[in-house]
Amino acid sequence: MIQDYWQAFRRFLFPHYCWCCGADHISDEQLLCGICLQQLPATGFLDIPENPVERVFYGRLRLQQAGALYYYTPAGPVHDLITAVKYRRNPQAGLFLGCLLGHALKHSNRFHDLDLLVPLPLNARKEKQRGYNQATLICKGISQVLGIPLREKAVSRVQFTGSQTRHNRLARWQNMENVFRVNDAALVSNKHVLLVDDVITTGATMEACGAVLLEVPGLRLSIVSVAFTG
Ligand SMILES: [Zn+2]
Repeated sequence: MIQDYWQAFRRFLFPHYCWCCGADHISDEQLLCGICLQQLPATGFLDIPENPVERVFYGRLRLQQAGALYYYTPAGPVHDLITAVKYRRNPQAGLFLGCLLGHALKHSNRFHDLDLLVPLPLNARKEKQRGYNQATLICKGISQVLGIPLREKAVSRVQFTGSQTRHNRLARWQNMENVFRVNDAALVSNKHVLLVDDVITTGATMEACGAVLLEVPGLRLSIVSVAFTG
C-alpha cells in the first residue's frame, strides 16, 4: 500500500508519458505504451529466412542469419526514437530499442546459438561528439534480455571517412575499405558473432565491417538492426 502511494507520488513528481500518444500509465522502463508498441511497423524478418535484409547481403557477405525489427519510415515512433538516440543525446531510447530487439531475438527460432554481440563501431570523432555509440546502447539492451556478452572493442574504426551521404554505392564502398580493424582475433575466433547497428540502408558499412570479421578463423557472422529502410 505504501509502495502504491510512493509510486503515485513519484509519478506526480516525475510524470512518465508515452512518447507517441502521451498516455501516462506506462512503467518507468518503457518509452511507449502497449498500444503504441503494437502499432510499430514490425517487419517479421527475424523469423523469415531469405528476408529482404538477407538479400541485401547476398553475394557480399557469408552470413548465418540477418534481419531487422522494424521498417524505417521518415516519420513515426521508430524514426523519433532513433533520432533521439543519435541527435538528441538520449541514451535511454537506445537501451529501450535494444531491449525490444532482444525480446524479438529471444522469440525468434533463427538466432538461438549466438555467442557475442558486437556493435558497429562509430568513428572516434562522432562518438566523442555524441558521447556514446548508439549501436553499443542497442547491444546493451539486447544483452540485458538475452544474457549474451557484449564485446564493444572487438572491432574499431581506423579512419574518418567524411560525409558519406553524397557518394554513390561504389564510392561509398571504396571509401569504406580499410576502415575497420579487428583488435583481438582470439576474442572472436570460433564464435558466432551478432553484428548490430541502428539502421540498415545500403548495408555498405555493415558489409565492410562484416568482411573484416569474417577473416577471423572459425568466426560465424549474423547481422541485425533495429530498422531497415528498404
Ligand atoms: Zn502510446
